[in-house]
Amino acid sequence: MDSINYTFAESLDLLRIAHKYCMDSFERPAVKKLQGASTLPEYAELMVASQLTSSDAMYAQALEGLARNWRSMSLDLAQRIGVKALFEAANRFGAQCYHCNYGNYPICASCKTYR
Ligand SMILES: [Zn+2]
Repeated sequence: MDSINYTFAESLDLLRIAHKYCMDSFERPAVKKLQGASTLPEYAELMVASQLTSSDAMYAQALEGLARNWRSMSLDLAQRIGVKALFEAANRFGAQCYHCNYGNYPICASCKTYR
């Protein structure tokens, strides 16, 4: 199972089925793949996966990634992740440091500069 290299989209499909039928051995590698997200579309898939499985950890990671890549958000992806996630990602983006995209107002805890 681990040796098969699924795409992001395939991993989400796999997770959907594995979660529905409680097939942990299939669910785990799919989750692992999705947690390797690094682009906005991948974070959107991770968000959908977190919604499917009610995973707080995946949701938090996806939200972070969506906020960091907020400027590339498209209508397609927005519709895919839904209003709640979109709203929370927008709020998170608004709270980010302009310099490093991590810390918050008024002094960034990450890069130590003022926003
Ligand atoms: Zn910063």
